[in-house]
Amino acid sequence: MSRFISLVIPALNEEKNITTIINAVRHAVDELPQYQFEVIFVNDGSTDGTAREIAACAAHDQRIKCVEFSRNFNKEIAITAGLHYAQGDAAIIMDADLQHPPELIPEFIAAWERGGEMVIGVRDELIGAGMIKKIGSHLFFRVMRLFGDVNFLSGETDFRLIDRKLITVFNTCSERRRIARGLLDWLGFKKEYIHFIAPERTNGVAKYSGKKLFALAGAALVAHSMFPLHLAGYLGASITALSGILGLFVVIDMFFLADPLQLKITGTAMLAIMILFLVGIILICIGLMALYISHLQESVANRPLYVIRSTINL
Ligand code: UDP
Ligand code: MG
Repeated sequence: MSRFISLVIPALNEEKNITTIINAVRHAVDELPQYQFEVIFVNDGSTDGTAREIAACAAHDQRIKCVEFSRNFNKEIAITAGLHYAQGDAAIIMDADLQHPPELIPEFIAAWERGGEMVIGVRDELIGAGMIKKIGSHLFFRVMRLFGDVNFLSGETDFRLIDRKLITVFNTCSERRRIARGLLDWLGFKKEYIHFIAPERTNGVAKYSGKKLFALAGAALVAHSMFPLHLAGYLGASITALSGILGLFVVIDMFFLADPLQLKITGTAMLAIMILFLVGIILICIGLMALYISHLQESVANRPLYVIRSTINL
């Protein structure tokens, strides 16, 4: 019995890339007649001709399927939806803009057959990416490694193959502000790595602006690290300890030794500094709490992760 592989491709305004990626995928899977394939596009609220392009290709190829969202949700949710619909023994997640080269599909499958339960594409080089994006990406991986509960490897991408075992567990995760790869890493399982060089985007523009990437990094930190929450505690403890020592010093200096250093510290000055300190601590604590509470709030609301307008071949 031949094994079944699902390709999951999130797409937002990729009309010029749809036929190109389908052809590239066809080319790659033609080398693998021993496997059956399905290609699930998740149209994440595209406002261009993406839906039309996908429908045209799906009309004469039952293996091409599509889930169309009612609006833009985001790539992480699109990947999630694709995995919900995937029927394969394994799924390969890839970008629609050909920055995740489809010709690597056989390599991913080979690594899976060797026993890898999750095969992760590691991006060695990002051709055409600006300095800020490179530095930002580097910084993100450093911070996540320091404080996160999963070991994000520098350059790890969403381009990955995951075994059915992972898909099943992944599909039970319900958090809304998710980073698909963070969740997948958290699951554990045996990992294999495939290094690749991301070519420049051929058509269209990158959808992740600096602001969106920053928000994504923040969400990843909160989802995978309790450090910010602990930070308030550390900060509070050290400031309390320091001011305690300072207070003691002042009391001894002024009242027991009659100010031998002639510091003449006024009570008002001390008070002002203490109040500022405390207000600062309280504000930081409230801000951090708010971050976590907003996540809790979203989970409690328990709205559906996405809304589907239509599906094709599913
Ligand atoms: N994408 C999506 N929803 C979004 C943003 C992006 O489905 O809100 C898709 C996009 O069509 C592409 C992939 O996610 O297939 C990666 O997006 P992009 O190339 O903009 O990101 P980058 O290459 O900068 O990581
Ligand atoms: Mg891209």
